[in-house]
Amino acid sequence: MAVLVFIEQRDGQIRSVSREALGEAARLVAAGLEGPVMGVCAAASDPGLAGLGEAGAKEVMLATHEAFARYEPTGYAQAVAAAVEKVKPSAVLFAGSSMGRDLAPRVAARLGVGLATDCVALAVEGSRLVATRPVYAGKATQKVGFTRAPAMVSLRPKVFAPHGGNGGPATVTALPFPYDPAAVKARVVEIKATSAGKADLTEAEIIVSGGRGLKGPEHFDLVEGLALALGGTVGASRAVVDAGWRPHADQVGQTGKTVSPKLYVAVAISGAIQHLAGMSSSRCIVAINKDPEAPIFKVADYGIVGDAFEVVPALTEAIRKLNAQG
Ligand SMILES: Cc1cc2nc3c(=O)[nH]c(=O)nc-3n(C[C@H](O)[C@H](O)[C@H](O)COP(=O)(O)OP(=O)(O)OC[C@H]3O[C@@H](n4cnc5c(N)ncnc54)[C@H](O)[C@@H]3O)c2cc1C
Repeated sequence: MAVLVFIEQRDGQIRSVSREALGEAARLVAAGLEGPVMGVCAAASDPGLAGLGEAGAKEVMLATHEAFARYEPTGYAQAVAAAVEKVKPSAVLFAGSSMGRDLAPRVAARLGVGLATDCVALAVEGSRLVATRPVYAGKATQKVGFTRAPAMVSLRPKVFAPHGGNGGPATVTALPFPYDPAAVKARVVEIKATSAGKADLTEAEIIVSGGRGLKGPEHFDLVEGLALALGGTVGASRAVVDAGWRPHADQVGQTGKTVSPKLYVAVAISGAIQHLAGMSSSRCIVAINKDPEAPIFKVADYGIVGDAFEVVPALTEAIRKLNAQG
């Protein structure tokens, strides 16, 4: 028995969402799930897994293959399934990142077990895992139990805190697994960064999103300027993406990305339920909208009723001045 966490790496870097999942796994073990906390990683070479002892892992199994330099769905799923068969965990945790969203259902289907996606809370009730996840575009939450082991869950990024960390190095062991690259039918050939140098939306601490009220793609420089001043990443509503003003990778919401940054600034976004589904768990929400009745104000911690074309430049300038003062 163990609680198993899929450790995500990209370009040889362990992703922070995996530290969040390890932290939650450690808390579940402290709350009564049978440990230890173990990890499984697929990579071309060891991305520094021993260091995950500090993040709560006791042991990390590493499946290596040169094809694993980038995400390879078939091989990664085989590796995680092999780890599950080896350690027979009571629960398997994935990050609800782009990779986790793709991989977790593949592993669950392969093992014939249930999967609760996009969880925002986990608890141990009578030594069994219970997951809480939003449903109906965030209008309600649902508690999910599992009838078969292992219980599989994916965790909404930025909701779970990483482990405080005082453990020694994790033991890293080689994981034997069946893998025939020739049998792979689909392969990821390239992953393109959409905004160079900026954090991915799902991992960003600060997001400034723009909506249809900006009236055209040429006015997104306002949003970009504010994001730059705040050190944040640019997001968008679906209306803007559908209009071709921004790429789909920027879309926040039910059919876009689910984000939970420390600060979410919504500029000229009405706050339709499908948009709220993707950002309402943000820690602090600031809305800028000229309509005082806009639904976004119902979820906002701070609201500015005003014209974005006046408010955003003034706000950006004030933040730049504060930055300059250090
Ligand atoms: C199945 C389904 C899935 C969907 N998925 C998503 C999703 O993932 N993400 C998403 O965002 N939407 C999604 N939508 C669409 C959603 O319902 C809304 O249509 C969309 O979010 C509206 O985008 P918006 O707020 O930018 O535009 P609008 O609703 O047109 O709002 C524009 C806002 O800008 C304000 N405004 C106008 N001018 C100014 C100004 N000068 N200064 C300040 N404010 C101004 C207006 O008052 C208004 O509130 C989905 C819809 C469906 C049916």
